[in-house]
Amino acid sequence: MGDGRKSFWAWGYEERLPNDEARKMLAETLGRALGFKGLTPRPLPKLEDVRIPAPRIPAPPHLDGSASLLDRVTHTYGRSYRDIVRGFAGDFTPAPDWVAYPKDEAQIAKLLAYCSKEKIAVIPFGGGTSVVGGVEAVVGDGYRGVIALDLRNLDRVLEVDLTSRAARIQAGATGPRLEAQLAPHGVTLRHYPQSFEHSTLGGWIATRAGGHFATLYTHIDDLVESVRMVTPTGLFATRRLPASGAGPSPERLVLGSEGILGVITEAWVRVQARPRWRASANVRFAKLEDGVQAARAIAQAGLYPSNCRLLDAREAMLHGVSADGVTVLLLAFESADHPLDAWIDRALSLAKAAGGTCPDGTRLRDAGQGTEERTGAAEAERGDAAAWRQAFFDAPYLQSALITMGVIADTFETACTWDGFDALHRAVKDAVRGAMQDACGAGVISCRFTHVYPDGPAPYYTFLAPARPGEELAQWERIKRVASDALIANGATITHHHAVGRLHRPWHERERPEPFGRALQAAKRALDPAGILNPGVLVDP
Ligand SMILES: Cc1cc2nc3c(=O)[nH]c(=O)nc-3n(C[C@H](O)[C@H](O)[C@H](O)COP(=O)(O)OP(=O)(O)OC[C@H]3O[C@@H](n4cnc5c(N)ncnc54)[C@H](O)[C@@H]3O)c2cc1C
Repeated sequence: MGDGRKSFWAWGYEERLPNDEARKMLAETLGRALGFKGLTPRPLPKLEDVRIPAPRIPAPPHLDGSASLLDRVTHTYGRSYRDIVRGFAGDFTPAPDWVAYPKDEAQIAKLLAYCSKEKIAVIPFGGGTSVVGGVEAVVGDGYRGVIALDLRNLDRVLEVDLTSRAARIQAGATGPRLEAQLAPHGVTLRHYPQSFEHSTLGGWIATRAGGHFATLYTHIDDLVESVRMVTPTGLFATRRLPASGAGPSPERLVLGSEGILGVITEAWVRVQARPRWRASANVRFAKLEDGVQAARAIAQAGLYPSNCRLLDAREAMLHGVSADGVTVLLLAFESADHPLDAWIDRALSLAKAAGGTCPDGTRLRDAGQGTEERTGAAEAERGDAAAWRQAFFDAPYLQSALITMGVIADTFETACTWDGFDALHRAVKDAVRGAMQDACGAGVISCRFTHVYPDGPAPYYTFLAPARPGEELAQWERIKRVASDALIANGATITHHHAVGRLHRPWHERERPEPFGRALQAAKRALDPAGILNPGVLVDP
């Protein structure tokens, strides 16, 4: 974690991207390990060389914003494989015309009114970490221009209610920013998507992000108590309630709205005491099937581990957890209230009954009262889980570096019921391997479970294949299409937590009930009658 200058084309901070020497070594190591030939790091792009059209519209009146090259370039794309490839090539053709940095809801409301009248598209922008084209200004011809509306000035924790264990937080706060403000109150949100460092609370709510908990509190949905959203037709604010059975839930309309219904400005979220007790263990399995059986038994036992990540052998190798060809289940429990010996013992006995071994035993930790805990990647833990966590937060830098040497490196994720997992997994692996072979001549795919539910897992796939420079987007598109088709054909979802955006929309339309699509369109018409908000995402404006 840290400050620094964010890269205009790659993931994260410039200084954390592997340097030329490291990229060269990586190319050699990976070429050897995976048999990809001719991997050669290419020079990094320079800001002054990028291709970007001039702004088409003048600044809206009273705009707190900018049309500087850096502002427009850093608001052109999210951080998907496609985005990084285009950024690396210096292609910023879909740049927004202006970037707005409003300081309050009144400024947002004024801007939405002006843009509705002038037919200018507005794209709400949090951390810009979308991997589904969610912030890309591809809006069709019906607009005079596009404004990216960046929430970075709304980044404060406004109130903490320790009695109800909730906090009121502005939408533009990034993970580290909101955790740093919660820490003096002794509470934490503990929502750690892999993009934690750069993504925002508003983005998490708009995309229904998935965080650190493998069970129970998996999506941000489970942590949202109430929200405020500025729409072109007025303020949409919900009541603070622990639960309610009063008709369809208004929060549910906002969760996953992906910037098409309004601009989320703040939310009351459920926080918790910082955990004191931890128990963890790593279980090894000779076969993936045995690991799957163990994960299912634990998910169905009512134990609710905070971590229950199953890594197939290749995933364990890529993340530096194990190189000896075994499947690994990373198990952890945490609590602010009680020691966890009984929970980890029971989970381990279930895992062993499924054929697992635990050569290193369990690790129990009591941070003690008043112990200051650090969050995210810096969390001081030893063992495989720590190796995995470090690799987890470094992986996006590695992906950017791989792209610079001609490797197609991407991930996709889903969820399915346990009874459908075997067939889905086989179909996905066969389809993706076939597509990589056809498009690239080689490639590898790995799988892990990010979350497990009593009725099914959330499998997450990583694929790596050698690219032909200049053709990589066509090669990637072929693999991505085949993978997405396999998910939908096998009854799984197009996304467990990466959202729909522009990229997944064709498959989302196949997945959702048709009347639901119409209802969503009607909701959009009611809240955004001029159709200016993030056109092209989820539904047609
Ligand atoms: C390396 C990497 C790792 C990732 N890991 C995870 C992960 O573990 N879990 C996960 O769920 N996702 C993950 N993602 C995807 C992404 O980080 C999430 O979708 C995240 O929630 C986006 O947040 P953001 O603030 O960056 O939003 P942005 O990318 O800025 O926007 C995403 C969408 O939300 C809308 N939006 C943003 N803010 C607002 C607002 N205030 N009001 C209305 N609409 C808004 C945008 O218009 C857009 O449609 C990852 C992405 C990357 C690049």
